[in-house]
Amino acid sequence: MPRPIRAVIDLAALRHNYLLAKRCAGSARAFAVVKANAYGHGLGLALCALGDVADGFALLDLAEARALRAAGIAQPIVLLEGFFEPADLAEVAALGLTPAIHCEAQLAMLERAAPATPLDVLLKINSGMNRLGFTADNFAAALARLRAMPGVRGITLMSHFARADDEVGIGAQLTVFKTLTAGLDLPVSLANSAALLRFPEAAGHIVRPGIMLYGGSPMPDLQSAEAIGLRPVMTLASEIIGVQEIVAGQQVGYGGSFAADGPMRIGVVACGYADGYPRHAPTGTPILVGGRRTRSLGRVSMDMLACDLSHLPEAGVGSPVTLWGEGLAADEVASAAGTISYELFCALAARVPVSVREA
Ligand SMILES: *Cc1c(COP(=O)(O)O)cnc(C)c1O
Repeated sequence: MPRPIRAVIDLAALRHNYLLAKRCAGSARAFAVVKANAYGHGLGLALCALGDVADGFALLDLAEARALRAAGIAQPIVLLEGFFEPADLAEVAALGLTPAIHCEAQLAMLERAAPATPLDVLLKINSGMNRLGFTADNFAAALARLRAMPGVRGITLMSHFARADDEVGIGAQLTVFKTLTAGLDLPVSLANSAALLRFPEAAGHIVRPGIMLYGGSPMPDLQSAEAIGLRPVMTLASEIIGVQEIVAGQQVGYGGSFAADGPMRIGVVACGYADGYPRHAPTGTPILVGGRRTRSLGRVSMDMLACDLSHLPEAGVGSPVTLWGEGLAADEVASAAGTISYELFCALAARVPVSVREA
């Protein structure tokens, strides 16, 4: 028998979450963000769930875009970082991809390549995140150059918010964006999941939901995924493979970071950081054993972690364990470990077998 760890992907939940995003988007088109192997869920599986419903897709990697076209996806595919070298452009054009254009070097490449099949592009504006995009200094010139290129067809104005998920919100960035683009009659694309959920009035013409599709709350401190109406898509599950009885003063795991203050029953779970479980998850991180909630104990090791079975006498070797997903929000585990559900999902290790949940 293989090691009992597995990730189960619920395609119906993914579809449900996309349709929820679509409802929030109103008349805007919702492009499913499937970068990073669909946030660790598997690009192929994301396509199974969304291929026939999504208005479009957004990702980073030319190879992933190629895979989407090979799978028969005819909808628009956005390259969120655009292309990286002139040699990419022929394929971008041949596959009919929609690159983001965020810097001078990309404009120059596009001018030189002059694609025979005109491209739709997203012109990226840096409205305050200071990551990618043109600013007040160079945006107008960039737009003029794009408009002068016969190889460019549709232009959508795009920006990305740094604080859509916190108390600061999008106001200041939206003002910068509106000032820069005043009077331009072009479609816009602004919202990630947090902006779409919190500020739907600013959704624009194309929204770009990512984490919410996978059932993570983009703002777990403000609103849980469940309260938003999202369903978990990835469940990381394993089993108890060992049990120890310890007494006061005995320690658990590397470094002895946890010591019992009385008699305890410890369960050892076949899941560690080499499976993608966060090593920084401290004692007390929630975990389900046999559907009942308990806590992790001590340091997470490469292949195992320990949990408290003291109040779960019925649990033992072979008991099912949920690390996150159905019954235990990934956001809760992430927050205990000082990170976000995005990172947990993306870190799912290649050695964990993935299966699809049967409806
Ligand atoms: C990743 C990404 C998104 C999706 O963000 P979520 O917070 O996961 O919804 C949207 N737009 C851009 C430019 C991105 O890089």
